[in-house]
Amino acid sequence: MSAQSAAASTTPDHYDVVVVGAGFAGMYMLHRLRGLGFTARVYEQGSGVGGTWYWNRYPGARCDVESMQYSYSFSEELQQQWTWTERYAPQPEILQYANHVADRFDLRRDIQFDTRVARAVFDERGNIWSVTTSDGKTVTARFVVLATGCLSNARKPDIKGLDRFTGKIYHTGHWPHEPVDFTGQRVGVIGTGSSGIQSVPVIAEQARHVTVFQRTAQFSIPARNAELTDEERNWFRANYPEVRRFAREEAKNGIYTEIPDRGALDDGDNERRAKFEARWQRGGLTFMSAYNNLALDKAANDTAANFVRGKIAEIVKDSATAKLLTPISYPIGTKRICIDTDYFATFNRPNVTLVDIKTNPIEEITETAVRSGGEDYELDALVLATGFDAMTGSVAKIDISGRGGQTLNQKWAEGPRTYLGLMTSGFPNLFVITGPGSPSVLSNMIVSIEQHVDWISDCLAYMRANALEMMEAERAAEDKWVAHVNEVASATLYPQADSWYMGANIPGKPRIFMPYIGGVGPYRQICNEVAAKGYEGFVMAGAEQKRKVAMS
Ligand code: FAD
Ligand code: NAP
Repeated sequence: MSAQSAAASTTPDHYDVVVVGAGFAGMYMLHRLRGLGFTARVYEQGSGVGGTWYWNRYPGARCDVESMQYSYSFSEELQQQWTWTERYAPQPEILQYANHVADRFDLRRDIQFDTRVARAVFDERGNIWSVTTSDGKTVTARFVVLATGCLSNARKPDIKGLDRFTGKIYHTGHWPHEPVDFTGQRVGVIGTGSSGIQSVPVIAEQARHVTVFQRTAQFSIPARNAELTDEERNWFRANYPEVRRFAREEAKNGIYTEIPDRGALDDGDNERRAKFEARWQRGGLTFMSAYNNLALDKAANDTAANFVRGKIAEIVKDSATAKLLTPISYPIGTKRICIDTDYFATFNRPNVTLVDIKTNPIEEITETAVRSGGEDYELDALVLATGFDAMTGSVAKIDISGRGGQTLNQKWAEGPRTYLGLMTSGFPNLFVITGPGSPSVLSNMIVSIEQHVDWISDCLAYMRANALEMMEAERAAEDKWVAHVNEVASATLYPQADSWYMGANIPGKPRIFMPYIGGVGPYRQICNEVAAKGYEGFVMAGAEQKRKVAMS
């Protein structure tokens, strides 16, 4: 892309870049593209910005990475001026923040809402994508950036009779915009992942009765949410340069916290218990940072898992319920750990019942009830907290056609394959933000989003400066990266769980550990080195002649 082409491409139907999605990734991508003078169009199927925080409006929804860290770092003024009210901001406040960012950086004029990208076809002769949207229009773009989200394709379970249910059915990932009032109702909740665990205590406060249908018990750590004090906010504001640097470069998961220097078995029982207790009292995701080998060594992991199991037994008064709520089938942390407010204690309430659908799977849903173990649980409303077709689900819903007419779904039939999680061979000029093969969902996602957006932006600027118009991952580099991603994952305990990281929640989805577990710091370094070596492992070409950029 040349500087001239950027200037000339102002006709309504051609853009330098089409961005799909207006969550935190798409919004920042647009901001960077604008800053570099590229023309860009963002399509968003929802009616507003915010992505996850636009769709997930269920009771109790809030972030589980602390707000002072789960926020953009690209604008010093923004991070100094925005005021988070709680340690973990509730969904409405995060959505308000997304809207504030859209207004502050005047993003909306280049975002087309209520418009789904249905199809994208690459024209090899012109190195141009044709992008067709749900309003029937087709535009062209040199580049397409998929900012479609890893947890954006809400999954309705295949349960017999679900459509027969005459009460209201809600999915946590597709919650109505108007307030939902459960007062006086018998509410069923299917699913006990993070969404179920956040929503059950809040629904139980309002509903007449809540029946929780649990297939797999989950490990959950108390959030210890509280209002942020001025002192806490000011500490972060004053220390942001170091907090953000640490999150980007040193923390494996993009979160500022102490890095443990020892393994769980290096301490004696009392010392270890005291450390876990301190983390439990502090609350939050950093519980898993108590020791450096909890994700690697089963015996070490067992010490943390047993600590949490002991807490469940202490909190839940009915021993049979406590036993059912105790996770036993996978190592702690290998399914995304949950962060809750009073989840386990909620089962001490007289209006909450736990139903074990592992032993007695749901047989069917009738007009008025969920039937399990031959018993009908009569309900007025049903909440599906059943999760997402994660990481690849929203990409797969777009009909993407690359070189030789190969579709992305064909290419990824056996599981996603990418180079650095950023591009996939056979699909030139198509970038994914926080795609499979990148740290993505294993991290504070905003750290990973900013890193990807910055890398892509720098890359596009480099291409323009060098009169290049085509970029594609090399097959060999991709194969090597996929092998590396798998190798790193198989050295951990993660593949031992039937998690959405593995695609295990979607019947028929290939079982592959999708994110890159090497850590955000090392990953960033790899990406930077690739760029510094003239985008090693990528083929780049200009308009006139295909030329391979020097690879060393
Ligand atoms: P999204 O926010 O998912 O945005 C993608 C957008 O793309 C969506 O608005 C979608 O409508 C749109 N889109 C998709 N396909 C198309 C299409 N074909 N055409 C047009 N538009 C399309 N991460 C953390 O790090 N910390 C947290 O505390 C945290 N909490 C979470 C809580 C919940 C309830 C969920 C579901 C996820 C949470 N996550 C958290 C992960 C969260 O998804 C990311 O942090 C982040 O918001 C992702 O931003 P994104 O822009 O990449 O994707
Ligand atoms: P999830 O973790 O995939 O949990 C889905 C739940 O539904 C699981 O308990 C699952 O059981 C159950 N389920 C799925 N299909 C079912 C079926 N057919 N029958 C019965 N039960 C079924 O989804 P989620 O809770 O929406 O969370 C997804 C991710 O989003 C989280 O891991 C996290 O990354 C993010 N999130 C974060 C927060 C936060 O705290 N900030 C809140 C919500 C979501 P099995 O375990 O047996 O499959």
